[in-house]
Amino acid sequence: MNAPTEVVHLQEDIQHYIGGAVSPSATGRFADVFNPSTGRVTKRVALGDAAEVDKAVAAAGKAFKSWSEVSPLRRARVMFKYKALLEQHQDDLAAMITAEHGKVFTDAQGEVQRGIEVVEFACGIPQLLKGDYTAQVATGIDAFAMRQPLGVCAGITPFNFPVMVPMWMFPVAIACGNTFILKPSERDPSPSLLMAELLKQAGLPDGVFNVVQGDKTVVDAILHHPDIAAVSFVGSTPIAEYIYATGAAKGKRVQALGGAKNHAIVMPDADLDQAVDALMGAAYGSAGERCMAISVAVAVGNTGDALIEKLIPRVRNLKILDGMDLSAEMGPVVTSQHREKIMGYIQSGVEEGADLKVDGRGFKLAGHENGFYLGGTLFDHVRPEMKIYREEIFGPVLAVVRVPDFASAVELINAHEFGNGTCVFTRDGGTAREFCKQIKVGMVGVNVPIPVPMAFHSFGGWKRSLFGDIHAYGEEGVRFYSHYKSVMQRWPASIAKGAEFAMPTSK
Ligand code: NAD
Repeated sequence: MNAPTEVVHLQEDIQHYIGGAVSPSATGRFADVFNPSTGRVTKRVALGDAAEVDKAVAAAGKAFKSWSEVSPLRRARVMFKYKALLEQHQDDLAAMITAEHGKVFTDAQGEVQRGIEVVEFACGIPQLLKGDYTAQVATGIDAFAMRQPLGVCAGITPFNFPVMVPMWMFPVAIACGNTFILKPSERDPSPSLLMAELLKQAGLPDGVFNVVQGDKTVVDAILHHPDIAAVSFVGSTPIAEYIYATGAAKGKRVQALGGAKNHAIVMPDADLDQAVDALMGAAYGSAGERCMAISVAVAVGNTGDALIEKLIPRVRNLKILDGMDLSAEMGPVVTSQHREKIMGYIQSGVEEGADLKVDGRGFKLAGHENGFYLGGTLFDHVRPEMKIYREEIFGPVLAVVRVPDFASAVELINAHEFGNGTCVFTRDGGTAREFCKQIKVGMVGVNVPIPVPMAFHSFGGWKRSLFGDIHAYGEEGVRFYSHYKSVMQRWPASIAKGAEFAMPTSK
């Protein structure tokens, strides 16, 4: 085990951001933040408490009164400025991600870009908030519908996308006229403060966006706070379920996105080289720490042997380096504990009889012996009852399951508890069409391994990959962060004399 003990490059502690300014910890509780590539502690992050959440809610509640009155067009102008500032600081944010998460720099740049695209979407908020109007729904009566902000909203986010996932939430929430409290992951909290600072530079009034750093204590304070109207969560399934149940019981609007086990079907008619390229990126990119990573390849018919033969040398030769090395394909995993957990899964796969073709457990990067590195791992002949098939590993481990035909592949995927993403590799239009129709998964790719919807569509899984009804960002995001209100009006000249006791109808 690589127990990091040395503290280097210790900069200022990562604090909260409340009411438009950095807010130093009042609790004095901190957690270490590591550079996963060296295994060293580089910073400390404040761990807040209920009083700090209360302070943020007070600031956000006060700001809501005026921000909700700002016209959508003016709110959009702040988003336009924010987008420009994010583009200017794209590499700063990406470097912060690599330093605390470990993913390779180019991947981190891509993460920031996908976040910027949600800001770009939020720039269109005047159009998105346009209501409906029907003249003359009955004689002398007109009806219209509008969307109004909810109030103070909160976001609780995972370590694996410290910029993109918060930006799935707050740009849309804020553009809709809400105010926001972000509780970032305590593993990689630094980008949250730069995102806050850039919002201020973009002209966002103080208190509209706040950050409370911390762990379960802060999450529970958010869930129980009477003045928080809505909670968006992204993270693992057990916590997502807890957030949904607790938040909903407190009368909040909740969307809680959970874990995943994403399958890629490889049909006998697929272009195998293209499928292998796609699987390599989708299984090992970001060291498999993506909720849309492919962790199971389902080899249909006779494709299994050829697929394994092509995958083995590719997995063995993955370029695993420090994330700032531009030739790196994969960096370390996030923490030493997570590395141990993944190694435990690999051991369980061996013990349950899966065929371990490439074992990443012995990998060491010269000069980074204390880093949280793991090599790529590949299993063949994985069966559905095995733990490595049933559970989310969230590491650079690909399991190949062999099935006789397309129908068994669909059945396998539909029986899994998760339903985040999936894809099929095929040249056959009929197979692709049936796959899209039959599969019980929220995000589906046809020859596209990681079908993450663009910002103007919406993101979300099915089954135990999402608790709640509304997906993230896009128009679903606008629906989540606004109340729908329907109004009917008539004016005295059209009002008939006398009370009406029967149900009014359009007759
Ligand atoms: P996590 O569930 O451990 O943590 C997520 C957030 O919850 C963090 O902010 C953390 O501080 C908080 N938290 C952790 N334990 C808690 C507890 N006991 N009570 C209350 N709050 C708690 O997830 P993670 O390890 O940071 O991220 C990886 C997970 O997120 C994976 O399961 C991955 O699939 C999932 N994920 C899902 C999506 C999606 O869109 N469905 C996207 C990204 C990540």
